[in-house]
Amino acid sequence: MGALSDLPSVSRLLADAAVAALVAKHGQPVVTQLVRDTLAHAREAVRAGGAVPDTASLVARVSADARALKLPKPRPVFNLTGTVLHTNLGRAPLPEEAVEALIRVARSPCALEYDIASGGRGDRDDVVSELLCELTGAKAATVVNNNAAAVFLLLNTLARKRKVIVSRGELIEIGGAFRIPDIMQRAGARLVEVGTTNRTHLKDFRGAITRRTALLMKIHTSNYAIQGFTHAVPEQELAELAHAHDLPFVVDLGSGTLIDLERWGLPHEPTPCESITAGADLVTFSGDKLLGGPQAGLLVGRKDLIAQIKRNPLKRALRVGKITLAALEAVLRLYRDPDRLPERLTTLQQLTRAESDIRAAAARLLPAVQGALAALPVTAQIVPLRSQIGSGSLPIDRLPSAGLAIRPQGKKGGVLHRVEAGLRTLPRPVVGRIQDGALLLDLRCLQPHEESEFTANLSEFPCS
Ligand SMILES: *Cc1c(COP(=O)(O)O)cnc(C)c1O
Repeated sequence: MGALSDLPSVSRLLADAAVAALVAKHGQPVVTQLVRDTLAHAREAVRAGGAVPDTASLVARVSADARALKLPKPRPVFNLTGTVLHTNLGRAPLPEEAVEALIRVARSPCALEYDIASGGRGDRDDVVSELLCELTGAKAATVVNNNAAAVFLLLNTLARKRKVIVSRGELIEIGGAFRIPDIMQRAGARLVEVGTTNRTHLKDFRGAITRRTALLMKIHTSNYAIQGFTHAVPEQELAELAHAHDLPFVVDLGSGTLIDLERWGLPHEPTPCESITAGADLVTFSGDKLLGGPQAGLLVGRKDLIAQIKRNPLKRALRVGKITLAALEAVLRLYRDPDRLPERLTTLQQLTRAESDIRAAAARLLPAVQGALAALPVTAQIVPLRSQIGSGSLPIDRLPSAGLAIRPQGKKGGVLHRVEAGLRTLPRPVVGRIQDGALLLDLRCLQPHEESEFTANLSEFPCS
């Protein structure tokens, strides 16, 4: 065991030439703190019976910590999980048009709530509401922080202290804290469940309507599917029933793509336009799921109901900022030219990417991956894979894809976790998935223009 007194003092370590260079780069307070932390850590290790580290290793540790501090957060990563809209990885990557738009308004003042024609006060929703109406067939629209906020605000405005009728098969939980019954309760609405888990009929809804009913609601069961002996009431019938009782019919679509994906050979996902056409009075959906835009919650529908929602003081608490609105506007604008959408909207580009194209990327990148892992007892090879859309969209459908499978050469699987952890320490961490004894890197979401960054990044793989 070494002696604590053999450790250098804070001031002696700060006087080291390499540490002084760090001070010039990162500033005195930051580096002093890192030196203190490093010495505290070393003292603890010595007390626990370890050797006294030499100055060079203490300096190396301070430099490494300083480098890590400089990395911006959230850290950009490569999403090779095979899940295109990965909630933990920030969902939809924005198209270039949206990135440019948000940088423009971030840098300078903009007419956010200012009517340039009259010089008077404007409404921030006007930035996108016209486009939203055009693309969904609705008469009015508003925007909040995310779709959970949209659902909450809708219920709090239209159903406080009153009842909302929902099919039992649609009382979903969407990852973590978003559960329809909980949101309903927090919004002050009373939930009335009708039907059974697998089958709900129009007469179930009809029988539940009372004087205390505020609205009928349909929730798109986005993240799971009920198969077999099932029945759900079509939107049009629910709308007719609601309207016969002078009640609004509202739909939470969840993902809500603005154009039918079947056009590009993808499975069908309901659109807001379809719900509006079926008679829905309000539809809510996310901005950063299949829509491919920034995080936002969109509410479209009847003019009087949207106006009522906008008068709720909570709208102010849930509103979005100029950066979100600028990005959203740029993304919505792309939908005006559907023919070019798959080239321009990143999410759609990734979803429609041909398997052969992904396989070709895998062939290009295999040598770099094999090179980076050369020192480890693993093999890497090109394999067919199946990607999923993610974020609760189309939970059963899989997209034919390709990528690399890294497998241990011997029987020991431990090395796989070392590779996985090593990929996470890269300047731009690479996130794959471990499945059936292999680390899989699905290359669908690696954009072709990022391939050179990907290989350069790999050259930093920690050699063992
Ligand atoms: C994803 C989803 C939500 C929540 O949307 P966020 O934008 O993540 O807040 C609500 N309802 C449904 C049906 C969903 O799929």
